[in-house]
Amino acid sequence: MLSVYNINVWYGAIHAIKNISFDVHEGEIVALIGANGAGKSTTLKTVSGLLRSQTGSIRFMGEDIMHTPADKLVGRGLAQVPEGRRVFLDMSVEENLEMGAYTRPAATLAPEFARVYDAFPRLKERRRQVAGTLSGGEQQMLAMGRALMSSPKLLMLDEPSMGLAPILIEQIFDIIRELHREGSTILLVEQNAQMALSCATRAYVLETGRVTLTGTGAELLVNDDVRRAYLGG
Ligand code: ATP
Repeated sequence: MLSVYNINVWYGAIHAIKNISFDVHEGEIVALIGANGAGKSTTLKTVSGLLRSQTGSIRFMGEDIMHTPADKLVGRGLAQVPEGRRVFLDMSVEENLEMGAYTRPAATLAPEFARVYDAFPRLKERRRQVAGTLSGGEQQMLAMGRALMSSPKLLMLDEPSMGLAPILIEQIFDIIRELHREGSTILLVEQNAQMALSCATRAYVLETGRVTLTGTGAELLVNDDVRRAYLGG
């Protein structure tokens, strides 16, 4: 579904991404894990067209998307939940969700609303509430729900656990597993390696802009190097 080959990204003189390649197949949850600054978010932003690689290729559903503008990718089935959620704080839950499918008339969105409210009953209860008054976990749910409104083929999540209490992290990952069971393909960037590896079909470890290790989630969970570096020994 997604094939990233040999990408390189610089921020001025900083070489943030060095020859990274990875694949996501239909029906998988693929996790990119690594420490602060390893290049996880940069990789995701490059796939979603917010940053550009000077080399290599990025193919999605068989098409080259290296030069496709970010706003066109949503229509092709690629939705990203950005780091820090970025929900529209002054708008209601329902209005935020509508923004996830802004290219379509609101009156046609009943099936998408039903699906999102089914996945996130909490959002349904609070559909008239202003997003700025939601808790951190609820805002994460809203950001994920907003992305799902475009019925994406591939859902990309940037650090869904960030800033959340352990109980909410569990809840968010339960929802990620549920979306996967229902057929969503997911690319997940996470610093919380334990949570990410326990739900990932496959994962890639990033260190200072390079992929240093790859395997199934289960393999990496018991890998000595991964345990030492990311799972607290
Ligand atoms: P984190 O988990 O802390 O978000 P990350 O693995 O997502 O980390 P990136 O945010 O991709 O890492 O950053 C990779 C490298 O690029 C880091 O060294 C970072 O300092 C640098 N970097 C990121 N954004 C910029 C920017 N806008 N300008 C300059 N350097 C940047």
